[in-house]
Amino acid sequence: MEAKKPASTAAETSAATGATVKKTAKAPPHQVALPNYPSVRQLSELLSVSSIEVIKQLMRRGIMANINQVIDFENAVLVAHDFGFEAVALPVKSTRAGARQVSQEDKAALRPRPPVVTIMGHVDHGKTKLLDAIRKTNVVATEAGGITQHIGAYQVEVDGRRITFLDTPGHEAFTAMRARGARVTDIAVLVVAADDGVMPQTVEAIDHARAAGVPIVVALNKIDKANANPERVKQQLAERGLVIEEWGGDVICVPVSAKMGQGISDLLENILVVAEVAELKADPEQLAEGVVIEAKLDKTRGPLATILVQDGMLKEGDRVLAGSSWGRIKAMFNDKGKRIKRAEPATPVEILGLNTVPQAGDRFQVAADDRVLKEMVQQHQAEKETTKSMSLSELASKISAGEVKELNVVLKTDVQGSIEPIKASLERLKTEKAKVGLIHTSSGSITESDVLLALASRGIIVGFNTSVEPGARRQAEAEGVDIRLYNIIYELVEDVEKALRGLVEPSYSEVVEGHAEVRAVFGSSKGRKVAGIYVTDGRLYRSALVRVLRQGQVLHQAQVDSLRRFKEDVREVGAGFEAGLGLEGFYSFEVGDIIEAYRREKKAG
Ligand code: GDP
Repeated sequence: MEAKKPASTAAETSAATGATVKKTAKAPPHQVALPNYPSVRQLSELLSVSSIEVIKQLMRRGIMANINQVIDFENAVLVAHDFGFEAVALPVKSTRAGARQVSQEDKAALRPRPPVVTIMGHVDHGKTKLLDAIRKTNVVATEAGGITQHIGAYQVEVDGRRITFLDTPGHEAFTAMRARGARVTDIAVLVVAADDGVMPQTVEAIDHARAAGVPIVVALNKIDKANANPERVKQQLAERGLVIEEWGGDVICVPVSAKMGQGISDLLENILVVAEVAELKADPEQLAEGVVIEAKLDKTRGPLATILVQDGMLKEGDRVLAGSSWGRIKAMFNDKGKRIKRAEPATPVEILGLNTVPQAGDRFQVAADDRVLKEMVQQHQAEKETTKSMSLSELASKISAGEVKELNVVLKTDVQGSIEPIKASLERLKTEKAKVGLIHTSSGSITESDVLLALASRGIIVGFNTSVEPGARRQAEAEGVDIRLYNIIYELVEDVEKALRGLVEPSYSEVVEGHAEVRAVFGSSKGRKVAGIYVTDGRLYRSALVRVLRQGQVLHQAQVDSLRRFKEDVREVGAGFEAGLGLEGFYSFEVGDIIEAYRREKKAG
């Protein structure tokens, strides 16, 4: 660390001439007038650089400061100098803002807390390896001898400051928690393999983090590989709106090799920089509350739950309610398996003493005494804690009532090329009351991850020429997430537009009637092909509309042309029965194709 220079006085700094030209493109004054106690934010505004850059510069000088924190004039001058400015003091009367910030700081009873971080990214890009590398290089030193046990989260220490990592990587787990109403993650580390670049799940992870409003730090992994191409990855990230600092944006990107253990401490330091900007605080004096990260039934010890304390101080003996489980904490263990008596904010702990096994994502709260705990248990039974999903028509009435300003939409299409025109049409739809928020767009069938995202964001899913994976359909039905499928862009746009205008019932909807599997293909007269099908669920009937799906892709949509059982024409075939199916204009059935039957309903708008 550099030795601190003596305080510059206004006279010295203003007398200095030939100041270096500032690095940003904005009209660069050579001098900047600083208040006596500028906050980090003020300083960044005065210097026209991002507050992250200011915080980083301060960190290099050994000062940990968050965005609202005030710093002394001496250090402000040095930072200004780092960015090519000569600083002068503002006349005293203009330092009001700084003075106000000081008193605001004093008022706050809250204390900074460690950030909670989730690692996300495409499969095989190195999420697990990175979590291991971080854990290995940086276990909290004070608890020597402890063997890290898997409790779903762990903490590391960097220069006396802690970071909590959730040990379940991936955006699905993250969004599943969010769908249950739990906001756990403060920062998302997006792992992108430098040899592979931005892949579909990278894009999903970006969209899931954004939908949750969680800042992203990019870990550019596998830089040890000969075919690593960091520049290409940076370009791809920029195309997704993640513009890294080096390119003038505000996203931090750290090259790492999880395999070689390279760049890990740099990554951790940068996570702390982002944490500073996020100003994460908690009150360690209050009764603890937080969220269940994972839980299981131990044969000898009973229900075991890993809990992330989000606020307050959790203590042994506390009475807790976790989801619908409750009890008194008999014992608590940290991520090294060490028994502890107290757990402060952002600490993951395993607790013993609940009466049943809670679910990941359940909220937990400490009750002051037995009477309060009893009340809390009763209250919990009365209300369910999950995020409630909303259908398009419910959203429409909320928009009309002014309660919802943005209609969150997950858009899935058959091919990449369909995304742009639909996106453009939807983005154009804007009323004085609401607009469309496209939280995720991609091609392919509708997956469980899409359903979770829509649920967590209280949005809907709109599919164009695509299908719904069976698991996703079950989940959407269970959670009440509205999935709307279209094959005409105009109808899709019109429905969304109506909802935006607050019209209660959009006009088109589709009801899936059943599915069948192609088990054989037969030739019939005139070179036509007929499929031997087995109805797996629901029903297939004569006038039904059907789509032929192959590996989730829609190959064809048409009306049923012929439906036969034992050479007899039939009106309808139910689940568990076989039949012969002919479709108009489609003769290239293959064994394994899925036939989805649906009906379109036009409702009064
Ligand atoms: P995940 O699916 O994202 O959790 O990926 P993993 O952590 O399982 O890693 C996938 C593969 O990439 C494994 O074979 C790792 O050994 C390898 N891998 C991960 N990080 C690195 C790295 O920095 N360099 C190299 N060369 N290989 C890596």
